[in-house]
Amino acid sequence: MTVGVLALQGDVREHINLIDSLGFTSISVKTKNDLDRADALVIPGGESTAISKLLVAFELMESVRQFVRNKPVLGTCAGLILLSDEVDGKLPDQELIGGLPIRVSRNAYGGQTHSFEAEIEISGERENVAFIRAPRILDSGPTRVLATLDGDPVAIQHGKIFGASFHPELTGAKVLHRLFLDAI
Ligand code: GLN
Repeated sequence: MTVGVLALQGDVREHINLIDSLGFTSISVKTKNDLDRADALVIPGGESTAISKLLVAFELMESVRQFVRNKPVLGTCAGLILLSDEVDGKLPDQELIGGLPIRVSRNAYGGQTHSFEAEIEISGERENVAFIRAPRILDSGPTRVLATLDGDPVAIQHGKIFGASFHPELTGAKVLHRLFLDAI
């Protein structure tokens, strides 16, 4: 099984390393051909406005939307924003991929200088994860909450779609990726 990492912008390398360390085969996805080779997709953190523009410019937006309807996808931070159906603070021309019936607020955990690490419990394990200009999940809708921080959901699952406000890949946290890859 091949796990693609959308490689238009953001922390692609860290996700690839994490996927490889869990014993799966990974590829960077930059084209429709790459996407066709992937059985699952990770949309990394970075900048959701830039990733959105590049998806449109490289004519990948529709293919990724179709992928999300059919195959397993994990979005972290900017990836979570792009997968959300409703985004507060979205730029007017920012297109979303959608697929998660949730509402998030961009940058709601504060700007770059307010970045922080926090310990969360996920699937019975405690891990340190990084919040960097992270989106807050204002309404998790019908999704399954996998982890919370101070009572707010920070990781969710909706069928084959997984999402997290934080970056697990920057602190070497493996549980979310393991849950995602085990579910495939
Ligand atoms: N706030 C960023 C955005 O809107 C996401 C930050 C991140 O991915 N670390 O895309």
